Amino acid sequence: MTIGEVLDSKFVSLSNMIQRLKGSKCPPSSLLIMFPHCIQWSKCPQKITLDLNECKRCGKCKVKDLIALSEKYGVQLAVATGGRAALERVKADDIRGVIGIACEKELRIGLMAAFPKAILSVPNLRPHGYCKDTDVTMEDVERQVREFLEQSPLEPTKS
Ligand code: SF4
Repeated sequence: MTIGEVLDSKFVSLSNMIQRLKGSKCPPSSLLIMFPHCIQWSKCPQKITLDLNECKRCGKCKVKDLIALSEKYGVQLAVATGGRAALERVKADDIRGVIGIACEKELRIGLMAAFPKAILSVPNLRPHGYCKDTDVTMEDVERQVREFLEQSPLEPTKS
């Protein structure tokens, strides 16, 4: 890890900690999950950046799970197609809470640009390196959705 990556990671962790202390809440319709295009399977031919309904929900990437999660809680879902467009969506007046999924550097840049919007961050997983076939831990995303919606935390699965 470079020094820059370490600093970005610490910035994101600190931002999440502060956001949790603030405890911002919002209704589902005002909560937006924003994820990066690189989560889509790189060989998928579907044009999800134009319309998320293009996803065939084949399960080869987490786009299927993110759509399912947004439907489960009735929250908004968007794919970040570029810095400015993503920022406009995040800063829109009707959005009161955001769950941002991205690498730590993009999260830091987005957090600084969108301040003081209430944002919880979920750093992505990068088994193939940056910007290609990235992944995300869905339990982390769902936990943050529930934090914004004033729902009790996810219970550990009981055997
Ligand atoms: S779940 Fe399947 S159809 Fe949907 S974006 Fe991923 S690879 Fe494409």
